[in-house]
Amino acid sequence: MPETDWSRLKAHELRTLADNNAVVILPVASIEQHGPHLPTMTDTRLGHEIAHRAARKAYGARPVVVTPVVWSGLSEHHMPFGGTLTLSHTTFRAVLCDLIASLTRHGFRDILISNSHGGNIIAMQQILDELAPDCAATLVATTYVMEAGEDLSQHLQDQPGIMHAGEGETSMMMVCEPDLVDSSDLTAHDTETADGPRFLSAGRASYRWRPFAHMTGNGVAGKPGRATAQKGEKMMEAGAEALARLITDPDTWSAPQDLRTGGTMDVPFRR
Ligand SMILES: [Zn+2]
Repeated sequence: MPETDWSRLKAHELRTLADNNAVVILPVASIEQHGPHLPTMTDTRLGHEIAHRAARKAYGARPVVVTPVVWSGLSEHHMPFGGTLTLSHTTFRAVLCDLIASLTRHGFRDILISNSHGGNIIAMQQILDELAPDCAATLVATTYVMEAGEDLSQHLQDQPGIMHAGEGETSMMMVCEPDLVDSSDLTAHDTETADGPRFLSAGRASYRWRPFAHMTGNGVAGKPGRATAQKGEKMMEAGAEALARLITDPDTWSAPQDLRTGGTMDVPFRR
């Protein structure tokens, strides 16, 4: 299997990958509290694992290379629990813009920003709104938890989807970093919290920022007591399959259509 890790390749090998129109996966994540039983690397470690598994699955159709994970994300809502390193929106935006510019300057034209942390989702989309019209590359942003959807959540016993430090993330970390999961009393950390983002809502469909401590006393959402490594392996495969499908679908990277009719055609389509 060819090497998929950008940081293990040599510059001339990466120049060849750009010449061969490789897809670049730029994983973004966070370092933040994950309850009493999981390490702060959880989102970063899972983002790395799923990106590389996806790259290996897609490679037969198209070369794929994965940069190191941007481990610093937007985690202000986890700060009250300690152990959390967060960026401001301005810094996060600047980091992504500079990394994307580096990739395009080297000739890569299809870039998948693969996110594994809920707090990054909206900012990532805003950054793409801003960059995409003038970017030399096609930029696509995804979050594996949402991209895999039901393929992933079918393995969860009683959670609607992956929640913070709950059944899913604990199961996957049992595969990736078994020595770093404190499995001594996982059911003690179970919480009855409803689906994650509700702590950020008000009224029927309104947004209100709140810290994560508003929904959970121990930093966990869901039931780590339900976690097993067997489930974790299936979920990581489902997440990687979903990303591989996204990467190998020509529609993901095809140019946008220009369906304009008369009167506007002298206005440039892009820019
Ligand atoms: Zn997490």
